[in-house]
Amino acid sequence: MTDRPTLRRWLSWIEGLIPAQLRRDPVTRRRSLLALGILGANTLVGTALLVPLSLIRQPDLRTIALVNTSGCLLLMLLGVLFLRRGSLWLAGNWICGILYAGFVYAIFRGGGVRAPFAICLALLPMLAGIISGRRSGLAWGFISVATITGFYVAQAGGVELPDINDPDTTVMLAFGALAGTSILVTWMTSFSEATKEAAIVQIEAASTQLAAAIQEEEKARHAADQAIAANAAKSAFLATMSHELRTPLNAILGYSELVVDELRDRGGHDDLIDDIRKVHASGRHLLGLITDVLDLTRIEASRLELSPTDFDPAKLLREVAEIFIPLALRNNDVLTLDLADDLGEVHHDATRVRQVVINLVGNAIKFTRDGTVTVRLRGDPDLFEIFVEDTGIGIPIDKIERIFEPFTQVDASSTRRYEGTGLGLAVCRRLVSLMGGAIEVRSSVGRGSSFTVRLPRRYTIPERPVSTTTSAF
Ligand code: ADP
Repeated sequence: MTDRPTLRRWLSWIEGLIPAQLRRDPVTRRRSLLALGILGANTLVGTALLVPLSLIRQPDLRTIALVNTSGCLLLMLLGVLFLRRGSLWLAGNWICGILYAGFVYAIFRGGGVRAPFAICLALLPMLAGIISGRRSGLAWGFISVATITGFYVAQAGGVELPDINDPDTTVMLAFGALAGTSILVTWMTSFSEATKEAAIVQIEAASTQLAAAIQEEEKARHAADQAIAANAAKSAFLATMSHELRTPLNAILGYSELVVDELRDRGGHDDLIDDIRKVHASGRHLLGLITDVLDLTRIEASRLELSPTDFDPAKLLREVAEIFIPLALRNNDVLTLDLADDLGEVHHDATRVRQVVINLVGNAIKFTRDGTVTVRLRGDPDLFEIFVEDTGIGIPIDKIERIFEPFTQVDASSTRRYEGTGLGLAVCRRLVSLMGGAIEVRSSVGRGSSFTVRLPRRYTIPERPVSTTTSAF
């Protein structure tokens, strides 16, 4: 296919005249282009025809010919209006109708089938077919043949249709009609070819683009598959690793406790006891970290299974609060419970609910000095909500969403005051969403934070296996 930028530029200029609704599909777009091109050519040829017509020597005939031709041209241009309003059918048939009226008049006055303009009726089926479609083309073909047959039958039957032209004029008009018709036929066919070529170029470009897009999509899908496989392999590796690490670590914790007891019994080893307590504290920190990593990777790999049972959430919250009383005292915090006691039992994995609450209450006390930590329980027939509110240091608004990301801490400096791994809330959010609920936080720096865990009263096993798309690390 030859690349013709000038032609395409020209076509795209004409295209600017086509209304948007006709530009949407390639067939009507092309027909509209052709309609405009043909209208332009008809106008040019028709205007050129005015020159020989103005040379007609009989004044009456000259006037009739000029009025007929220019009237037809002007009325024909109304076809552009129909096209701009989006009707190709109306545009094509209107143009053909006007030309038909003009040609039939010229044939009638010019001696019937002998008339120079009789040949012009052949243009109509072509015009209508190109602009308005095959059916209109066939209809105008029928009308043209029927008209010329009608003239022939009438004339053969003896009807006299006087030729009002003198012989010179007849020759001149026959020349004009033949030349005009030939020019228009040539123009219509070559213009039709040109738009077809342009359409093919566009279709080729679109299919190349489509093929490229399909290739890209395949590549992306392949990469996504690889990433999912890598993520699953990573999760499986971490789960195994964490499990393997916990066993010796538990031994270290157990033995360090034994050694402390032993040294205390022997007496006089306070320095050693302090050191071993540090070992024990670091071991506990590491164990917490490993447990969180294990939970996260299990959730990521959809390997964490929940074991729902019926339990009383108020009782669970009271138990958790009791665990934290010593820590609250150490931070000079008041730990209060506000529990709706008529809530009854819920159906969930109690261990996991406890884990979430322990995390939230632990954080609340950790980040509150000389303040209040309140654990509230509310519910309705469908949901229950656990609120953990504190009057502690609060969280800056720009960090509030990030605290649920793994290893994220508001104060990440090496000299930070608060211990922690930055994994607790990441695990909490994933656990709560696995249980079919949501966790929310509201906070204000210096005034405190409020975490809300909202869960359905009954955990129902999801129909499809839960899989998280984001990676924990
Ligand atoms: P960490 O083990 O560090 O506490 P978390 O994931 O539990 O990890 O919490 C992430 C971070 O969110 C904390 O380091 C802290 O900066 C912030 N945060 C969590 N809870 C509170 C709270 N109640 N008050 C203030 N900051 C909090």
